[in-house]
Amino acid sequence: MFAKVLIANRGEIACRIIRTARRLGIGTVAVYSDADRKALHVRRADEACRIGPAEAKASYLDIESILAAAKETRADAVHPGYGFLAENAAFAEAAARAGLVFVGPGPQAIRDLGSKSRAKAIMEKAGVPTVPGYHGMAQDDATFASEAKRIGFPVLVKATAGGGGRGMRVVAAPAELAQALASARREAEAAFADPTLLLEKYLSRPRHVEVQVFADAFGNLVHLFERDCSLQRRHQKIVEEAPAPGLSPQLRRRLGETAVAGCRAVGYRNAGTVEFLLDEDGSFYFMEMNTRLQVEHPVTEMITGQDLVEWQFRVAAGERLPLDQSDLAIKGHAIEARLYAEDPARDDLPQAGRLVRLVMPTEGKDVRVESGVSEGDEIGVHYDPMIAKIAVWGEDRLGAIHRLQESLEAVRIGGVVTNRDLLAAIARHPAFVAGKVDTGFIARHRAALVPAPSRAPDPVLALACLAVLLDRADSRRDEARRAADRHSPWHRTDGWRLNGVGAQTIRLRDDLGELSVTVRFQGGGYVLDLPQGPVRVAGGRTPAGEISADIDGNQVTAFALHDGGEIAVFGLGPTWRFRLADPFLAAATEDAPAGSLIAPMPGKIAAVNAGAGDTVRRGQVLVVLEAMKMEHALAASADGRIEAIHVRRGAQVAEGDLLVSFASDGKESSEG
Ligand code: ADP
Repeated sequence: MFAKVLIANRGEIACRIIRTARRLGIGTVAVYSDADRKALHVRRADEACRIGPAEAKASYLDIESILAAAKETRADAVHPGYGFLAENAAFAEAAARAGLVFVGPGPQAIRDLGSKSRAKAIMEKAGVPTVPGYHGMAQDDATFASEAKRIGFPVLVKATAGGGGRGMRVVAAPAELAQALASARREAEAAFADPTLLLEKYLSRPRHVEVQVFADAFGNLVHLFERDCSLQRRHQKIVEEAPAPGLSPQLRRRLGETAVAGCRAVGYRNAGTVEFLLDEDGSFYFMEMNTRLQVEHPVTEMITGQDLVEWQFRVAAGERLPLDQSDLAIKGHAIEARLYAEDPARDDLPQAGRLVRLVMPTEGKDVRVESGVSEGDEIGVHYDPMIAKIAVWGEDRLGAIHRLQESLEAVRIGGVVTNRDLLAAIARHPAFVAGKVDTGFIARHRAALVPAPSRAPDPVLALACLAVLLDRADSRRDEARRAADRHSPWHRTDGWRLNGVGAQTIRLRDDLGELSVTVRFQGGGYVLDLPQGPVRVAGGRTPAGEISADIDGNQVTAFALHDGGEIAVFGLGPTWRFRLADPFLAAATEDAPAGSLIAPMPGKIAAVNAGAGDTVRRGQVLVVLEAMKMEHALAASADGRIEAIHVRRGAQVAEGDLLVSFASDGKESSEG
């Protein structure tokens, strides 16, 4: 076995690999960028090396830097994790040249299977069914147009080098093709430095079912059953489970055997995943193969009782596969949910910010929490915004679902918007509980899963106000302590005024608008004028940072975080968010006429599709923002005339920057 492994990755997967390495007695070297100096994976490893600045291109994707770190620390193996260089054949080659064992398949397999087009051609030859489509060399628009016509709309444009749902566009009609090609090319070039595209028939209601395979150097090849990863947004998985619900034993066997046959055809080695689309009629098609460990590998580990990272190390070290196919069996059911810093109410836009509060479910035999961050850490714009994976096991699917529901309920995250409520809603949704999953699930059930904005109930509003009042009281007390005249009436926090009974106002903003709450101080507590009538509230913070309050005689304990003008209340059902309306801080953008575009997150302008003076329709894409390695199409929210475009292609923008302003004479859209 190896003496020391360098993990060419970050976050939860680096931490995950370190755990197994340590158990096997392998020394660990972490690498980090400037943004990750104090990251969890750095703290967990035996040694750590800086490999460059925050941008992945100059650090986690910099082969030279990483190999220099391996040399310096005398590592004898390198584990690439997933993402970054995990499927980069040049990296595997360079590692071998540097005398390192690459924990993964050989460079040729990575090269052949890394391209979706080449992989499809190889699998077709091996007799594996593939999705009908075009994966040729010719890349001009005219060829794509005629091929799309031959395949029949809707078609799916994909980046051959693709991953993580990037560079993928569904095209419903011929007229949309050119724009989809341009945008997919751009995204593919930015993400994979390769603009090559392919076309596929877009299946209307498939399931994503993938098979975990493993091979050693002695010709042993097994599969560790399948995972269903149909629950996706933006073509990217957020809930995965094993085994796939509702498969007949015959179908399960055929999927496993087909995956193994495909891998045998390419002389595969180490861990891999063969992804299929399973159609409603039970036919399945090869989609792509991932030549690495998958994000969702824990569910397979949980139903097979194996440690796949250990298998990877053993095979890479030249050992035989630990088990034969006949030794492997499915036990129980496992589900993983990915917690992301992203906003389901705003097109799942990735979010950045500091994890002011991070409470995860308690880990145990049946609950695994894989995370690469801890409370106080920053979710930055440079890397994947995943916060944690929660993987649970149950004797059967329902048991696993209950554990998932329970675990998600226990999650408390403050400081950034997350998809926690969406995941919790999925875990409770009757169709999910019934196992009726397909890749359109989230889009189809969106209205139920992401409820329209509504006004928070009074107890939630009371807690939000109390959080503000407690903070105001704290800061006034601090000020008073500093002030020369400790008894100055100006420092009183009870609304005391020279002219009698004082009142203060808290102005909360939510998605429905502004709510003004009048507060009166009364007998050690406050009386708040809330929408349903006056509410008496008193309380304080607990050592754990929660607020313990008496609201009209009811005892309530929950988190109400007040940070930088944002208030988040959680622990009382879904997460409720408010902004403190501050007349002095009112953003200039709030006064912008309807239709004006504001950057929803920091990023780079990838395209500007309109000019000053243009008359545009609601829904028309005006600007494309590249952020967190993805393109976000920003569309006009109303019909109108553009007064000015404030950005140019290539410009870096901050969240809240005004990108496009509309003329105030522009009519509002009449459609709702
Ligand atoms: P990536 O490598 O970016 O993850 P995949 O090729 O694995 O891309 O596809 C991601 C997801 O996109 C699939 O799980 C599926 O939901 C959807 N998808 C891919 N190809 C098709 C297709 N031909 N028809 C319908 N959906 C598809």
